[in-house]
Formats: sequence, C-alpha cells, structure tokens
Amino acid sequence: MKIAVLPGDGIGKEIVAETLRVLGRLELKLEFEEAPVGGAGYEAAGYPLPEKTLALARQADAILFGAVGDPRYDALESSKRPEQAILGLRKALALFANLRPAQVYEELAEASALRPEVVAGLDILIVRELTGDIYFGEPKGIRQHPAGGREGFDTMRYSEAEIRRIAHVAFKAARSRGKSGGPRVCSVDKANVLETSRLWREVVAAEAKSYPDITLSHMYVDNCAMQLVRNPRQFDVIVTGNLFGDILSDEASMLTGSIGMLPSASLDANGKGLYEPIHGSAPDIAGKGVANPLATILSAALMLRYSLNQGVAAERLERAVKLTLRDGYRTADIYTAGTRKVGTAEMASAVAERL
Ligand code: NAD
Repeated sequence: MKIAVLPGDGIGKEIVAETLRVLGRLELKLEFEEAPVGGAGYEAAGYPLPEKTLALARQADAILFGAVGDPRYDALESSKRPEQAILGLRKALALFANLRPAQVYEELAEASALRPEVVAGLDILIVRELTGDIYFGEPKGIRQHPAGGREGFDTMRYSEAEIRRIAHVAFKAARSRGKSGGPRVCSVDKANVLETSRLWREVVAAEAKSYPDITLSHMYVDNCAMQLVRNPRQFDVIVTGNLFGDILSDEASMLTGSIGMLPSASLDANGKGLYEPIHGSAPDIAGKGVANPLATILSAALMLRYSLNQGVAAERLERAVKLTLRDGYRTADIYTAGTRKVGTAEMASAVAERL
C-alpha cells in the first residue's frame, strides 16, 4: 500500500512526521513517499503543486496531507499561493466529497466553547461538497467598476449532477452510521436568496426518494450556524456546498474543543482519498513543537478505514488516541487545569505507546 506523504508548510511538517512515527507502530506493509506541496512546493518548483507531487498523488493508494500556507507567500498572485495546492489536488483527483466527523470525546467536553451538557456525546458528520461552488465558479476577478474604483466578483455555481452525487454520499454515510432513531440528513443551503441553493434543495429532495429510511430536512445556513451552537446534538449528518461547509465545519470544530482534534477525508468516486487535519499551517505556533498532532493521527485512521481497507488498524489507532486522552495527555490547545501538558512529539509518543 503506497501512501503519498505531503507535509506542506508550518506545523504540517511537525504533525505529519509524528503521525508517520505512530503509523510505524502498526504491523502493516505501508510504503511512504514524500513530496513538497504548498509553500514548500513553490520553493522546490516555482508553484504550489509541482508536477512530480501531483504524479505521486495520482499513483498512490492514499494521500496523507499536513497543511499549507505561509504568510511569506501572501503577496504572491493567487495561482502561486500555497492554498492553491489543496484546491488543485481536489480538482485533479476528483475528490468531490469531504467527510468531517465532529465528535466530542468524553474527556474533552470541558474544553468545548459550549457547556459540557450541550456537547457531551456529540457525534455529527459534515459532508461538504468540495470541487464546485463559488471557489471554482467562473467568471471571477477584480475589475474596474463603471461608477469608479474596482469591484471583486466570484460566481456561485452547482450543476444537478454535482448536487446529486454529494447527496448520495451523505445518504449512504447516514445509513452506515446507524444512529438510534434512524438516519437523518440535514441539507443546508440559502434557498431564500440564492438560485444555486434553490436548485440544490430541489435535487437533494428528489434524490432522497431513493432512501425512504432516511429523514431529510432542510435548513438555511444562517439558522444552521445558530443551531450548531444552540443544540448541536439535533444533527446526525449535515450535507452542504463548498463555501457553507467550509465555515460550518470550522464552527463545529469548536464544539469539540479544538481545531487540533478534527480529521477529515476527501474521497473520489472509488474510495481513494486525501486525508488531512481540518486546521491550517498555524504559522503562529509553527516550529515550536506545541501543535496538536491528534487531528492528523485521526486522519491517518480514516485513511486506514476508507482507502486501505484496514478497519481493525483504524480502530486500534482511534482507541489509542482515546486512551491517551483518558490518561490526561493534552497539548496546549486542549489543556485544562489538572491534566498533563505535552508537546507534539510527547503526545504522539503517548499514542504510540498505547498502540
Ligand atoms: P489555522 O488552522 O492554521 O490556525 C487557526 C488557529 O488554530 C491558530 O491559532 C493555530 O495556532 C491554531 N491551531 C491550528 N491547528 C492547530 C493544532 N494542530 N494544534 C494547536 N493549535 C492549532 O488557520 P489560519 O491561522 O486561519 O491559517 C493559517 C494558514 O493556513 C493560512 O495560510 C491559511 O490559508 C492556511 N490554511 C490551510 C489549510 C489547509 O492546508 N487545508 C486550511 C486552513 C488554513
């Protein structure tokens, strides 16, 4: 099983190195090959997604990705900025479905921004469409405004086929989660204002007819942002577009206590995937050895499950993370009084020992 390892920038390098060390403890034949991406790709080849990196990603069984982004490159034209690498990979590999579980570990309920009784036992899945929407819609740009000055513009766009295939991913995921009370999918849009959302709602509702066991509801994105804070446990699976999903999944991350805890999987139609923490390169703490590696370690667990067909190993890894938290290990982002504050390497070592 060949894994393309793309650490990227900032804390990406630290958390991926530690994750590989943990994966090394599993008795699996995993072959790792590393390549530069993001700012590191720009340094190596003059653009954020070098051809060699893309070729490696194409031939691998799965991709383990750290994070990209570095303030040093903020002034570059947008096609050369590190963040383009992840957008480019998603597009080139047709990774259209982003699965983001948000789960509250018992031990971390105190670390949530909300009261423990609101989040305890929370287990939701946000399914975000990844390759369409306003991030890719044309035309876009900055132009002269007829009344003077400039204007920026982007285009929100979704085809019926794109909506249909992400709806199916969400319905299937909801089914496989087996939540008590039956599977539920909440489709989130802005159909009171946006034409794109009107089509979204119509297509999702039509597709739901093939899944009579699933309870489908619709919610406006502004209400969903509010409900996630008011009563997040009302949700099972949330399915939404690229832009709304980007924002809602970051919001959901705070329910769990830390952005440093949340893994993600981006899948193509055949189960090949790119696995990465949902956080960015965290330039404010890069190089300090304090980043939380658990989101990346949990992303590796998703990789074992979804792309490498190693469900048992995935469970072992997730269980090792739970035991590490139970034993009180905390990086700074999830630290509370009475627990043991550790850095990136020590946290990964604790997981490896329990494995
Ligand atoms: P960020 O996720 O990098 O950081 C937000 C905050 O969370 C920071 O205070 C950071 O220190 C903290 N944080 C993030 N991950 C952490 C971890 N594992 N452990 C402990 N604390 C953690 O978001 P940002 O600051 O908005 O963006 C920084 C750079 O990352 C930008 O260049 C941005 O474009 C990029 N970015 C990349 C990705 C990606 O690679 N997929 C995603 C989001 C942002």
